[in-house]
Amino acid sequence: MKPIEEYLANVGPDKVDPVILGYLCNLQEIAVHSPEIASSIVKELASQRKRIKLIASENYCSPSVQFAMGNLLTDKYAEGMPGHRFYAGNENVDAIESRAAELACTLFGAEYANVQPHCGADANLLAYWAILSTRVENPALKKYGQTNLYKLTDEQWQELRADLGRQKLLGLDYYSGGHLTHGYRYNISARMFDVYSYSVSEETGLLDYNAIERQALEIKPLILLAGYSAYPRKIDFRRMREIADKIGAVFMVDMAHFAGLVAGKVFAGDYDPVQHAHIVTSTTHKTLRGPRAGLVLSTNEFAEALDKGCPLTMGGPLPHVIAAKAVAFREASTPEFQRYAADIVENAQVLAASCARNGMHILTGGTDNHLFLVNVRSFGLTGRQAESALYDCNITLNRNSLPFDPNGPWYTSGLRIGTAAVTTLGMKSTEMEELGAIIALVLKNTKPAGDNKAKYITDPAAKTQAIAQVEKLLSQFPVYPALDLDFLTKSFH
Ligand SMILES: *Cc1c(COP(=O)(O)O)cnc(C)c1O
Repeated sequence: MKPIEEYLANVGPDKVDPVILGYLCNLQEIAVHSPEIASSIVKELASQRKRIKLIASENYCSPSVQFAMGNLLTDKYAEGMPGHRFYAGNENVDAIESRAAELACTLFGAEYANVQPHCGADANLLAYWAILSTRVENPALKKYGQTNLYKLTDEQWQELRADLGRQKLLGLDYYSGGHLTHGYRYNISARMFDVYSYSVSEETGLLDYNAIERQALEIKPLILLAGYSAYPRKIDFRRMREIADKIGAVFMVDMAHFAGLVAGKVFAGDYDPVQHAHIVTSTTHKTLRGPRAGLVLSTNEFAEALDKGCPLTMGGPLPHVIAAKAVAFREASTPEFQRYAADIVENAQVLAASCARNGMHILTGGTDNHLFLVNVRSFGLTGRQAESALYDCNITLNRNSLPFDPNGPWYTSGLRIGTAAVTTLGMKSTEMEELGAIIALVLKNTKPAGDNKAKYITDPAAKTQAIAQVEKLLSQFPVYPALDLDFLTKSFH
């Protein structure tokens, strides 16, 4: 019997679960020609069931989000914007994209939304070019008495290009929690701008707004950028906007990590970036819990340039992923999601406190958001050793550079721990308390092996105990609980 038939025979026609059946149809059809791919998808489920996920940038999105992506929408080319496409036959894609953009505007209280970026890095690249073409090209055009860019001579273009290349970006330093796309030297952003960065205070580990203001007044950047991948505290966006206004800079916020906390109204008032920034970029797959993709929100000033996202920096949009974004924005507009967002932060605070009580060093003493940072040098370990030792015990998280880290970006001295995914599973304070104790148990019982910054040994008894505790925890909170892993493994091996 085929898996679908077997399932239907087992449950009977009125007990059919659309999620289970949806997955079975999906896998069974894939397996016709690509059994190895179907098998890998099931193995990934097995791996996610076995390990507790504390990666701060990951989550588990809903089956509706997943199903919105897995269909014929992927066949459509839709270059351009709704109502203004370079391809025929886009009525339905127009309806989907317009709806997604409208939902994003309502959810975040934004004037304008572009839902086309394929990922967060895409969103940032688009935002940078939209800012450059809105704030820089126009003066250049005026200079040459032109109204149309295409009429510039080659020499004028050279000059304009030089003008663009000399623009300044001031963002959070990578080692203080900023993202690669904020001007890190191996990212294109570092080649597009003269990059300057601000750091957290060496004493407190916190942003020092007066220091940022002094730096901004001196540098006078075109763009003042806030947002992070690894900073455990709230940012006062009202204060940052004041700084930007003093120098006429564009205030841009990259909320890739904490978009779910903004949507869920945990970050409100001074801490809501959309109320204060000119332009806000995001991913949709981290705390926001949607498909793997990006988003740009802005004031109307940048709408015209952002509408040219394709071909400015992007190719054809992904209509199936845009459909999934619409589903996710809908989900994030509910009271349940607001509770979810509040729970993420509470869980992060309880987990950080539990880690601290169990002898771990937590940067800034705790967290206001979904993540916190641990300095593992107190255990004599590098971040790399700590990450691997925990992975051996079925705890997945990542090592992270700490501010002013002596171990560099590869080995690092830190761990970044996030609670978005475990909160989706339904875990609460009791589980966070226990988890803190398990993490500390592993770290206390792990020692470096010789001088190698990657090698380590964990005491076998501690390891056995940690694995057993993780297994017990996860058995109460399975990932995608509707899915019967044994049945899927047997059916698609
Ligand atoms: C994750 C992240 C991104 C990049 O997102 P991708 O979808 O991986 O391109 C950009 N900015 C910040 C702050 C992030 O944390």
